[in-house]
Formats: sequence, structure tokens, C-alpha cells
Amino acid sequence: MSYFKNIYESVSSIWVGMNITLKHLFTPAITLQYPEERWEMPERSRNQLFNNIDDCIGCDLCARACPVDCIYIETEKVGPDEDLGLTSKGTKKRLKLLRFDIDMALCCYCGLCTYPCPTECLIMTPNYESSVYDRTDLLYEYATPWVYEQKGEGGGEQAEETVNA
Ligand code: SF4
Ligand code: SF4
Repeated sequence: MSYFKNIYESVSSIWVGMNITLKHLFTPAITLQYPEERWEMPERSRNQLFNNIDDCIGCDLCARACPVDCIYIETEKVGPDEDLGLTSKGTKKRLKLLRFDIDMALCCYCGLCTYPCPTECLIMTPNYESSVYDRTDLLYEYATPWVYEQKGEGGGEQAEETVNA
């Protein structure tokens, strides 16, 4: 009797295993062939930050909201004869942005900096491919070009790459 019971248990356990194998044999693969294929990020996903510097008024609200202090802003009041113009939403710019850097190596992608921004120029982009070989390359410099032109540096290039990626 136990002889037949052993045969039954062996055959049924093989059948269970084969059944699972056969089921997966005809299930279409869901693995994407990265980088040829890419996941589309959900609408509210939090990835690489971007600052549209033309609309930034240097109010510092984003830096103050950041829990890890990885936004570095330096500003200077405009002179009496200077006019920096308006943002795209009509806010007058009263501060020159000497520096607007975000250290993405420290950023925890919480998104808290984007909410208080009065001009909505600081946004999280869908770009999640921002790995680099050198950690210092994760310091994104968004400040307006005139400061860098004076210093003879190429500020803002990396930031442009971010949004164009
Ligand atoms: S996403 Fe969070 S951690 Fe990153 S810069 Fe904004 S506030 Fe700071
Ligand atoms: S909150 Fe917005 S406008 Fe103010 S400094 Fe930050 S990015 Fe610029």
C-alpha cells in the first residue's frame, strides 16, 4: 500500500512543479531591456530636481524647507539703476542670484523644497538617470551666467543637461 502511496506523492509533486513551470512558460516577460527600453515614471514621482533659474527670485524659501541643507543660495540686492525684469508670472526680481546650487549627493528626494517656491520654478523632473563617477559632479549649479562669466567659469551647463536629459 505504501508503495503506491509513494508513487502517487512523487507524481503529484512533479505535476505541481511542472504546472508552475508551464504557466510561466507562456507568461510574457516583463523585464525591460534597459537602456533600450525604459519605465515611464509616474506623474508625481520624485527624481532629479531642476530650477528654471529665469523664474527664480532668490527668496530662499526652498533652502529653508530643505531638511538636509543641500541647497546653497547667495544673493545680492539689485542696484538702484538695475532692472532684472520679471518672472514669467510677473513677479519682479529684486535679488541677483550669485549662487544657486543643489547638492544632489545629499538630497533625499523628499520634494519639500518644491512646495514653498512662490514662482514654481523649482520642480522635480522625471529624469532618474543621473548617476556619475565623481560625487562632486552631483553639485548642480543653476545660478545665472553673469557671475560665472565674470569668473570665467562655465556655470549652469550641468543644470541644462539635467532638463534636457
Ligand atoms: S528634495 Fe528634499 S532633500 Fe532634496 S533639495 Fe529638496 S528639500 Fe532638500
Ligand atoms: S523658493 Fe523658488 S524662487 Fe525662491 S529661491 Fe527657491 S527656487 Fe528660487
